[in-house]
Parts: sequence; structure tokens; C-alpha cells
Amino acid sequence: KPPFSDRIQRVEPSATIAISNLAAELEAEGKDVVDLSVGEPDFDTPEPIKRAAKDAMDAGHVGYTSSNGIPPLKEAIVEKLHEDGLSQYGTENVIVTPGGKQALYEVFQTIIDDGDEVALLDPAWVSYEAMAKLAGGSLARVDTAAHGFDLEPALDDLAATVSDDTELLVVNSPGNPHGSVYSQEALEGVRDLAVEHDFAVISDEIYKEITYDGIEPVSLGTLEGMEDRTITLNGFSKAYAMTGWRLGYFAAPESIVEQAGKLQSHSVTCAVNFVQHAGVTALEEVDEQIEEMRDAFEERRDMLVDLFAEYDKDVPVPEGAFYIMLPVREDDQAWAEDAVEQAQVATVPGSPFGTPGYVRLSYAASTDRLREGVERLAEADLL
Ligand code: PLP
Repeated sequence: KPPFSDRIQRVEPSATIAISNLAAELEAEGKDVVDLSVGEPDFDTPEPIKRAAKDAMDAGHVGYTSSNGIPPLKEAIVEKLHEDGLSQYGTENVIVTPGGKQALYEVFQTIIDDGDEVALLDPAWVSYEAMAKLAGGSLARVDTAAHGFDLEPALDDLAATVSDDTELLVVNSPGNPHGSVYSQEALEGVRDLAVEHDFAVISDEIYKEITYDGIEPVSLGTLEGMEDRTITLNGFSKAYAMTGWRLGYFAAPESIVEQAGKLQSHSVTCAVNFVQHAGVTALEEVDEQIEEMRDAFEERRDMLVDLFAEYDKDVPVPEGAFYIMLPVREDDQAWAEDAVEQAQVATVPGSPFGTPGYVRLSYAASTDRLREGVERLAEADLL
């Protein structure tokens, strides 16, 4: 008998991180890799946030904090949630975590039992599946790729997939890897099903600040009937270019927070003290830099879509986040390997997201590097 738990053997290592590692190995060999695999902004953390962390450290904010987070950060988070129309949440509904991933992990562990059904909208970010399996959940998947990654036309499929056995659905808008922003109507469709079958929904809003063409994403928890069945999740990694700081949170009905708080207190204890202080500054003082980064992502998205059009590649145009799904001719896993080996361009195959036949490109890279990447792919006859 192998010395490992069944639980851990149910999951594979993160596919996105695997490709980044491969790209890093090639770079270590001296190769110039255009890395379009990473899900992190290529910007430095805005200066006021760094300064706030340094000041907090100097002021002695280096010990444990209360497990669910420091009051000023929870208050700032609640203010942001209220601005987004989520007036049902108070500070008692919030847990501050070391990253959105930890928040998700805690929610899955709190809600999902062995055999409970978790529904995902494919393509779905790779960690949802892993976290559902780690909690013992079974998966029900709905494909949106056939509908250009839009949710509204996939609602019939969702209705045919979920049932009274469904415990949890994950909605990620704007989404990784698809970049779609789901409409109010689509979310109302989700709401109707959640109410009919009495399941909870995680609304992963980590890319909420990164949308294009003036689109304003709707928060699922604002819809009537969803106030008490939505777990709203967010983090600082993407909007504030704070991936390595590890700061995120979720807001949920108090009963969920009470249960999840046990896991937080027995595992990570709390998010890093001075990082939480910096989080207050991020929420309260950093608007302009977010806009600048968002504008840069939009310019890159436009450039990529135009470039692909030049090569007669028709790609679904993302409305948010910083990923684009490129349809490929052959097996996506093989394509991604060829792209790294023949063109030194790192991407992530779509299969681990539940979308074979596509690869995910991150455009959190400079316009020069993006152009270089596309040209290399074309030269290697991969477009
Ligand atoms: N949710 C989605 C959809 C993501 O893409 C990510 C990061 O890649 C996360 C959550 C978690 O990010 P973090 O743990 O850095 O907050």
C-alpha cells in the first residue's frame, strides 16, 4: 500500500504551474522563452501598497492577527463589497486568507462531503477540480466552449446537468481561462437553478477589476434569491499585482464563516499581518494604478486579437481577465509541447481546464513579447 492518502492521490499537480516550470528550465539553459503561460500580472506592486507594508512592519505589525483578519481590512473589504451592491455582508461575514486559493480551499472543505456533487462551467480554472476532489466531491461539468465561452446559451445544458444532488456550483466571471464576463441574464439563469435545486454558488470575482470595453461585471450575490447562497470570493493578486503577497478573502453567510473559520485557525492561523495592513491601503488608496494596468491589458488584448486575425485565426474575444483561448488544429497537449520546444513559447493546454482543442495564452506580457510570441508560433507553423 503506498504511504499516501487516497485524497492526495486523487489530484494531479497544477498543469499551469507545470508549464511554467518547463519554461523556467529552458530559460535556465539560456534559451529565450516567451512565457505566455503564467497567470500573473507583469507589473510591480503599486508603490503605496509596498510603502504601507514597510510602514506596518516598522510599526511592529509582525505578530499573529485575529484568525479571520484585522478589523480595518475586513471593514475595507465590506465597504468594497457594498460598493459592488453586496449589501448583505458585514465584517462577520468575511474571512481574510493568505490568497484566494486558500479561501477556495476552505470553502470546499467546509461545504463538500464525500460524494457531494460540484458543478463546473468548462473551461474552468484547474484548481476548482482539484479542490473538489480533495474534499471528496464528484464533478458535473458543463461545456461553454461550444457557445464561444458564453454562459447564456449554455444554460439549457446547465439545467440538464444540475439536480437536487448538486451541492455547489462555481461561477468565475470574468473568468480564467476564457475571459468571458457573464451577463445579468445568464446569472439570473444560474440563480433560478440554484433556487430550484437549493445549491450554493461560489462567485469567484478575482478578475472583477479587469474588464474591457467599459463592461461592468454583475456580482452574482446581488441577485434576489442569491444573497444567502452565494460565497463571494476575491483576492489582491490580479487587480493589484500582488501575487506573491498572498492575500485574498471570501464573504459568506455567517454559518459558513463560523465553520470555515475552524479550518483557517487550525491551518494557516491568519494571513500575514503587515500584508493585511497593505491590503487596506490597496483597497482605499489605489485606484489609478489599477486603471493603468487594466488599460495596458486592454491594449494587449486588442493587439493579440488583431495579430491572430492577420494569421486568419479567429479567436473568441475576451471581455476580461488577461487570457485568450486559441483554437489549435492538433491535440492541445502536443501543441503546447511543440510550442515550447520548437518556438520557445510557453502556453497552457486547454485539456486540464476541460477544453481540449484550445490552448490558453496569458497576455500579462509586454506588447513586444506578445508580438514576438505570435510571430514565433507562425514561423513554427503552429497557427
Ligand atoms: N481564482 C482564479 C480564477 C484564479 O485564476 C486564481 C489564480 O490564478 C485564483 C483564484 C487564486 O489566486 P490567489 O491565490 O493568488 O489569490
